[in-house]
Order: sequence, then structure tokens, then C-alpha cells
Amino acid sequence: NAKEEGDGCYRFFKPNLLPLIAEKMRLENGLYKALQENQFSLHYQPKISAASGELCGIEALIRWKHPELGLVPPDKFIPLAEESGFILEIDRWVFREACRQNKAWQDAGLKKISVSVNISARHFYQGNLKEMILSELKATGLEPHYVSLEITEGVFMRNIDQVIDTILYLRNLGIQISIDDFGTGYSSLNQLQRLPISDVKLDRSFIQGITSDDKKSSIVRAIIELVHSMNMKVVAEGVETEGESRFCKELKCDELQGYLFSRPLPAAELEALLVQPKNVS
Ligand code: C2E
Ligand code: MG
Ligand code: MG
Ligand code: MG
Repeated sequence: NAKEEGDGCYRFFKPNLLPLIAEKMRLENGLYKALQENQFSLHYQPKISAASGELCGIEALIRWKHPELGLVPPDKFIPLAEESGFILEIDRWVFREACRQNKAWQDAGLKKISVSVNISARHFYQGNLKEMILSELKATGLEPHYVSLEITEGVFMRNIDQVIDTILYLRNLGIQISIDDFGTGYSSLNQLQRLPISDVKLDRSFIQGITSDDKKSSIVRAIIELVHSMNMKVVAEGVETEGESRFCKELKCDELQGYLFSRPLPAAELEALLVQPKNVS
């Protein structure tokens, strides 16, 4: 039936793409309002010291509760925000909120730990990252050595000298810098040598199935040795099983993160993990 097959009017606009495009526009338009109307919040995922099993840091991860669409995952809206440039506003909000929260926990006498914030590569090219970090640290009163920034290899795609300059400046303040999702991007191990980085977060894809994949485990072993030889720490991302955890420890990963230990938690639940044993006098 010719009518059902269509007469060609919309041929270059595949009908099944329409809902996708509509959703994309809806999300993109919603971001500004989300910031204005407090629809964003942060969850915090623990990082565990491989040696002691203790909580040694937390990573802030953004959550968006859309009034009609419900919870929208970051993988759906962060790329849109990066396209439009609105990511600069989002990163600033996340950084401020993570610092504010960490300072509030410290002031309440809870365990002092470092909070990691994911910073878009865009921020290195378009925003004024130094200014943003300085002014938000000042506003919240958090000391810089309780802050860590997670950046992806995409940061090193252009202007590498300027990027190194910015990273050196931040490290001199006492801020730690991690490379997130390491192994999925374009940076080479050779490049890594030039970078003033504190630690490397091995992407989840390297950890998944590591116990039963000899090729994978020898690649991971080699990466870890190399990273250590450059005096950087290794964090294993996405550890989901006891087997993976044991393996990562055998390979001398310094820190572990993943659902095995904890999912990202709302602030109120994370807080319970920061309660220190009371001094009995
Ligand atoms: P990421 O920074 O690599 O964060 C790790 C992601 O993996 C998080 O997803 C986390 O919930 C998830 N994850 C943690 N452990 C496990 C595990 O054991 N198994 C599995 N399957 N997943 C695990 P989430 O929160 O959905 O965030 C996805 C990505 O969105 C992040 O990847 C990051 O690139 C980006 N993102 C999240 N929050 C922010 C933010 O505040 N600012 C920016 N610029 N990007 C963010
Ligand atoms: Mg991250
Ligand atoms: Mg990651
Ligand atoms: Mg990721």
C-alpha cells in the first residue's frame, strides 16, 4: 500500500529519528531551567584504598531529576551540554556543590577526605578553569588538597602546552589531577610521561572480565607497571566482583572503585560512611 510506505516527502528525514531529535531538543532546552530550579543533585561514589580497604576518597557524580521525564542519566545530557557549551555552567555548579558539601562535612567533625569532580575537556579550551576553581574554593572555604579533578584524555587533543600549564598551576595549589577512563581515548603512554598527573583511572572495560582474559590481564599489568614507573597511582574503575577486586590488588592497583564496594550514594547516605569513631575518655 503506497500510502503506508510513504510518498517520499519525508524521505531524507527518517521517521524513527523524529522522537530522538525531539527528545534531544527537549533535554537541551531543559538544562538551563534545571540549573535555575535546582533539579540537579550530586551523588558520591566511594574510592577504596587497595591496601587497607578503607574509604580514601569520593567522586561526585551529577544527577538530573527532570520534572516530567524523571531521572535523566549523565551520559544522556552531558554530551548535549558539551555541544552547546552549557557544560561550563554545569561544571561550575558541580564543583561548587561538591566543595561546599565536603567543607560542611569537615566542619561537622566528619572524616576528612578528598572529593573528585569530573571536569569536561571543554573547560580547558573555552572556560577559564583557573578562575573558576579559585573563586569557588574561596567561596566555599575548602582547602585545595581536599579536591581532585578528573579529566579525560580528550583534554590532550590540542594545545597540550597550555593544558600542561593549567594542570601545573592547579597542582601547585595542591589539587590532584586524575585521568579518567584511561585507555579509551587518544593519549599515548609516551604522552603521559609529559603530564603532571597524580593518578590514572583505568577504564571499566579493562577491569571487566579481567579474571578470565589472559590477554587483557597482561595488558593491564603492563599499563600499571608503566604508570607506577612514572610515579603515578592507579585507580581501578568499575570493580563489580570479588574476583576482579582480588585481581586488581594482585596487579598492585592503589585504589578501587565500583559497585562491589558501593554505588554512587546521595549525600545523606555517604555521610554515614564518614562518621569517625568517638574518642572514649
Ligand atoms: P565517569 O566519570 O567515568 O564515572 C563512572 C561512571 O560509572 C558513573 O556513571 C558510575 O555510576 C558508573 N559506575 C561506577 N562503578 C560502576 C560499576 O562497578 N559498574 C558499572 N557498570 N558502572 C559503574 P554515571 O554517574 O552515570 O556517569 C557517567 C559519566 O557521565 C561519568 O563517567 C562522567 O564522564 C559523566 N559525568 C557524571 N557526572 C558528571 C559531572 O558532574 N560533570 C561532568 N563533566 N561529567 C559528569
Ligand atoms: Mg569520573
Ligand atoms: Mg571513568
Ligand atoms: Mg566514564
